[in-house]
Amino acid sequence: MKVFAIALIAAAPAFAQRNFESEIDAALGSAKTAAGFEFTGTLARICLLPQSGGEDTSDRLPAYIADPSRAPARDTWFAEPAKVFDNLYFVGGRIHSSWVLTTRDGIILFDTIYPYNSEELIVGGMKKLGLDPKNIKYVLISHAHGDHIGGAEMLQKRYGAHVVMGGPDWDTVARHPNRYKTMAPNRDIVATDGMKITLGESTVTIWLTPGHTPGTLSYTFTVLDRGKPVSVAYSGGTAFNFVNNTPDPGIRNFQTYIDSQKHMAEKAAATGATALLSNHSEFDNAVNKNRMLAGRGDGPHPYDIGAETVQRYFRVMEGCARAAQLRLEQKVAEAKR
Ligand SMILES: [Zn+2]
Repeated sequence: MKVFAIALIAAAPAFAQRNFESEIDAALGSAKTAAGFEFTGTLARICLLPQSGGEDTSDRLPAYIADPSRAPARDTWFAEPAKVFDNLYFVGGRIHSSWVLTTRDGIILFDTIYPYNSEELIVGGMKKLGLDPKNIKYVLISHAHGDHIGGAEMLQKRYGAHVVMGGPDWDTVARHPNRYKTMAPNRDIVATDGMKITLGESTVTIWLTPGHTPGTLSYTFTVLDRGKPVSVAYSGGTAFNFVNNTPDPGIRNFQTYIDSQKHMAEKAAATGATALLSNHSEFDNAVNKNRMLAGRGDGPHPYDIGAETVQRYFRVMEGCARAAQLRLEQKVAEAKR
């Protein structure tokens, strides 16, 4: 036994330098612990399920634009709109979310779902809730993917709303006329880190969180729960939709993503965020929480999960990204041996 151990160390000094398996286990363990019961959807998507190979650089017309009859069936995406806070409303679907922040001077809308369901979910949902879509003054697009930018062109054209997006994502839209057909608002406000969008009594602060796309935006703002202010952190991009399967540029891409999670965690902590919102229900459990709200009574608000739990969200993202980054670092180390 002793002889074997000595032989192993002598034959493979490189193994003694770094134990990637244990580093990966530690990163995954940290993400799993942080996820707890609250963020299992986020954990599953970015830590457990296989990753996509990378970024979509094609300029293909989406199938649902080329032939609208190929859009997913309504019962796969429809969800009821809901009043979530005194001044925040959910007008999303079962999978993708869109949020309305009302102020005395009009509405700030976060994300716009797909072109095939933004009319019914956003415009129709607002009307059901007694809100007038004509009052939409700003549309904040967290990133330029079809599931979030889908209704932006329509809302800009119809209601004259200002559209805010990250610079690199405005460029992506401009470079891909087919991919963004019917979804391309005219270039408008280019977001910068710390930019404030103020309307009436509300201010949304924008944070640049590149990673999911180069222009991904996240936000901090305050909502009211029965008159009590609640600070919200809105995480704008989650899955690893960048080149992630080759060390170059994968390691760098993961670092960008990790740095963004740290940046957002810091801003969430600084603003005392106790609620976490996303643009996908699988990450913030929006559709389930909307159902829970109906039976809330005098209980706690289901979205108001506490500052520590909000911080844990960003640790899930960071831990999963670190584990994936470590796998690429391991590839590099093995190639050198
Ligand atoms: Zn996306």
